[in-house]
Amino acid sequence: MDNLSNIGVIKELLERHDFSFSKSLGQNFLVNPTVCPKIAQMGNAQSGFGVIEIGTGIGVLTSELAKGADKVVAIEIDSRLLPVLEETLAEFDNVKIINDDVMNVDLHKLIYEEFQGLEVAVCANLPYYITSPIIMMLLEQRLPIKSVTVMVQKEAGIRLCAKMGTRDVGAITVAVNYFSEPKMLFNVSRGSFMPSPNVDSCVVRFDIKDKTPEGVTDEKHFFKVVRAAFSQRRKTLVNSVSSSLGIDKSVVAKAADEAGLQQNIRPEQMLMDDYIRFAENLKQLTNG
Ligand code: SAM
Repeated sequence: MDNLSNIGVIKELLERHDFSFSKSLGQNFLVNPTVCPKIAQMGNAQSGFGVIEIGTGIGVLTSELAKGADKVVAIEIDSRLLPVLEETLAEFDNVKIINDDVMNVDLHKLIYEEFQGLEVAVCANLPYYITSPIIMMLLEQRLPIKSVTVMVQKEAGIRLCAKMGTRDVGAITVAVNYFSEPKMLFNVSRGSFMPSPNVDSCVVRFDIKDKTPEGVTDEKHFFKVVRAAFSQRRKTLVNSVSSSLGIDKSVVAKAADEAGLQQNIRPEQMLMDDYIRFAENLKQLTNG
């Protein structure tokens, strides 16, 4: 079905299906016709690719992805949208809808069963209430995927794509840089959605690294230390990690010193290698 980003078409469709927007499911549907073709084009929806979409809404992005990719598997939690999607995606025979919470779907199995012989990409206009958990779930599982291209809140996008060592870095910046190369693609104004949210948005892409950084012997410990470093934002690395993990300050200070870090360094000033050396030192000093 064409014109899926036309407000009149959407209103008629949703009224006919007696559909009302769910705020708690983050249902802000795209009504700007220029956005979805750009996400599809920049998100690897092309020949030779299978695409996983998270959160279809009425299928405005799904149909653009289906035009470019060999196959699309879209996961939508809201069963009320299924009859709508049957209508809007009727012309495509390369789309499969899974009615589930994306956090409950076995994506390794899905990729193995649905995308044999294809490269795989993830594309989504994410529900904002669950942006970080979805991104971390996609990255931490080490899925055999090329890229993750997602619309997120502008502030989240700035943090996700901040350059390491700069003010906007947070724990999630370190995590996404560990698994991928993040890139800010373009901004999307709040007026591009129905209903219009109170925040602007942006589209970011994570190009998945073939190899994660060397030198991390225990990823669980590494990410625990990264989270601890940012747990009290205005504190120094040493104070924050010491109080968050309950480790004596002199031990944390020694781990920093042996990593070549100044005692008053702040977590956002550190580069990936600094985190790796510091976390490894701390592990050895605490036998943890
Ligand atoms: N892709 C559509 C668009 O761009 O217009 C809809 C985007 S809307 C921001 C987010 C969509 O994700 C909604 O359709 C919502 O029902 C769905 N959703 C919310 N939580 C979800 C979850 N945990 N798993 C799968 N889909 C979810």
